[in-house]
Amino acid sequence: MISIELERDNKAAIDVIPNECPYCHKSIGPVLLGNNSIIGGIELIYQCPSFPCQRAFIASYISFNNYAFFFQKTNIGEPKETSFSEEIREISPLFVKIYNESFFAEQYNLTAICGVGYRKSVEYLIKDYLIEKQPAQKGKYQEQIFRELYKRRRFRF
Ligand SMILES: [Zn+2]
Repeated sequence: MISIELERDNKAAIDVIPNECPYCHKSIGPVLLGNNSIIGGIELIYQCPSFPCQRAFIASYISFNNYAFFFQKTNIGEPKETSFSEEIREISPLFVKIYNESFFAEQYNLTAICGVGYRKSVEYLIKDYLIEKQPAQKGKYQEQIFRELYKRRRFRF
């Protein structure tokens, strides 16, 4: 446990100091700016020391005895984006867009939506790859994907 100084000369012990800024996503040792007591825990206000970010963020901790606090999460900040190779970005820009929108949904804990989005992104990647390899078959692949999507909708709704 790590001992920290709180306002009004109080002390607390925390298990973890966040080591990634939720805004710039760099590996950091944040600066503790303040704290706020909440029922069953504490919120610590940190600042990213990385220039030019220097954003403040809140880390939430829970406690069972009001002395030892256990890290739960930081506020979300800016969602991360997954980067793909130039080859994939050129073959299927829609895959990259849908994948990253799904990744954003996952980071906001929208797990029911992100699963559907990831699957859809892979379908676009496969279709675009097949069209890239066999451009003469473009219509056939688009029709197959459309038929497949239509079938799924018919049975689900
Ligand atoms: Zn930062």
